[in-house]
Amino acid sequence: MKKQKALIIIKPDGVQRGLIGKIVSRFEQVGLKIIGLKFELATKEKIITHYPETEIWFKKVGERTLTNYVKKGLDAKKVFGTDNPITIGKTVKKWLIDYLQESPVFIIAVEGYECIEIVRKISGNTIPVLASPGTIRGDFSHDSIDLANEQNRPLRNIIHASDTVEDGEKEVALWFKPEELFSYKKADEKFMYSD
Ligand code: ATP
Ligand code: MG
Repeated sequence: MKKQKALIIIKPDGVQRGLIGKIVSRFEQVGLKIIGLKFELATKEKIITHYPETEIWFKKVGERTLTNYVKKGLDAKKVFGTDNPITIGKTVKKWLIDYLQESPVFIIAVEGYECIEIVRKISGNTIPVLASPGTIRGDFSHDSIDLANEQNRPLRNIIHASDTVEDGEKEVALWFKPEELFSYKKADEKFMYSD
């Protein structure tokens, strides 16, 4: 089995609330290897590239919004002026561009077996009210789509975490230069695997 890479971004709400240390330690304690970490003021161009500029991504985000509105008996048209999922996804992306530039973001690259599955599990549900206790989003935030959209902003959910093996590779390469990534042996590797 091959090791995977994942990118975690501590978003401005996590940085401004002083959660960097606590969040980094959650990825360390599960045994993932930190191969890069740094502060960065994200540029608009980088954020645009980071969140896919594809119909599939816009639709996924828009449909999540619509599902939530239907469940709550709310009307998406009142907030977004439309119930087209792609248009809603595009609005959310515009909000994300502003949100991620509110302060420096703290970026972490991790590596390990089943890395993607693990970082998503530790991160918790995208929607903080639905994120389980014990996850980063569940323990440190309680935002909801209804509240966020009413305030014309994206969910403040503390972190980003890569969600596919391909995205993990792509995102680590987007945010880190090769010389900012490090390869080394961790002491616990010999107890965790028979590598
Ligand atoms: P991330 O990519 O940040 O790890 P995710 O993969 O769990 O989050 P995505 O579907 O990729 O979720 O959405 C990207 C980000 O857009 C979310 O983390 C959240 O901040 C914001 N977002 C997504 N859907 C909505 C929505 N319906 N309303 C407001 N914000 C949203
Ligand atoms: Mg995502």
